[in-house]
Amino acid sequence: MIPKGHPRYVSLVTRERLVEGFRGGITALEGLIAHGRGEAFDYILGERTREFALKAEKVAVAMFLLAKNPVISVNGNTAVLVAKEIGELAKVLNAKVEVNVFHHSKERVRRIADYLSKFGISALCAGDAELKGLSSARRIVDKRGIYVADVVLVPLEDGDRCEILKKHGKKVITIDLNPLSRTSRMADVTIVDNITRAIPKMIEFAKELRSLNKEELEKIVSEYDNRKILAEAIEGIIEYLQKAKANFD
Ligand code: ATP
Ligand code: MG
Repeated sequence: MIPKGHPRYVSLVTRERLVEGFRGGITALEGLIAHGRGEAFDYILGERTREFALKAEKVAVAMFLLAKNPVISVNGNTAVLVAKEIGELAKVLNAKVEVNVFHHSKERVRRIADYLSKFGISALCAGDAELKGLSSARRIVDKRGIYVADVVLVPLEDGDRCEILKKHGKKVITIDLNPLSRTSRMADVTIVDNITRAIPKMIEFAKELRSLNKEELEKIVSEYDNRKILAEAIEGIIEYLQKAKANFD
């Protein structure tokens, strides 16, 4: 048991959930390492949702509301960290959920889908189509889901797949605490925020924006510039570090 008063309570509980997820065959061992990289960036972003993340979260939701075939892609880490919230987001956005993993086995995909079903999510995971041009198992998709999607949310993504999704003409939204990653630079919308904070924020935006008409949503999307958002995120890190340094001056 992690004591509630521990100064790093949230971070420790999150790690526990990932470790549990690993023991249950949902999270890949590599996923634990990837989370560590995410945590390091979260630390130097101040572990809170910043303005650049809020802007990206809002635009992402607007894009989803405008989409014909929106899909939320879920991997092992995402399932363990935010299953309940993904279910709620998919519902308000009228989006499909698909299981898609880098470290692939039929059994693991099934376990993730079963886990999601406990939260009322019936996730696509047929693995009956292939995204050409990608060598990793991430190429295996569902022909009712990512294969035909026009907008895809791919949190905690690998750069290669992001690139291929774009080549296949899809709009890609990612959640990645590292504003320098290939994924971050490749996506149409990059949410530099912890997934545990980002999805609840997106649910709030979805409830707020769903009453807007097409023109209003299109206006929100057209005013967005992802390069500017990434520059702001890097600036955010610089500012945070400068303040931290000032404590020693
Ligand atoms: P790329 O191939 O895009 O350059 P990478 O190889 O550095 O990325 P991966 O290991 O493929 O990274 O993907 C994991 C990414 O997800 C990391 O960049 C990490 O910062 C991010 N990440 C991990 N955990 C979280 C989290 N809880 N919330 C948001 N982002 C996270
Ligand atoms: Mg990578």
